[in-house]
Amino acid sequence: MKIGIPSILKSTDEKIVVRVDECVTCAGLPNIGEMVCHFEGGIIAGSLEKILKRPTRAVQTKSHAAGFEHCEFDVLLY
Ligand SMILES: [Zn+2]
Repeated sequence: MKIGIPSILKSTDEKIVVRVDECVTCAGLPNIGEMVCHFEGGIIAGSLEKILKRPTRAVQTKSHAAGFEHCEFDVLLY
């Protein structure tokens, strides 16, 4: 995945928390107080959907552009 360095922080039956370091979209962006990495979220959700064969939806919870050190996504499993 060419979106930075993804790692899984937590995985349950309903939710997977994915952290992305050096996110290509927002690493280096100033703090604009917004979650801007919809592209990464889409790729992560799409990849997990294929692997798990379950519908998924990614919600971004942390971003460089919102003042965090890394990006983080909650991937909800349906
Ligand atoms: Zn990002």
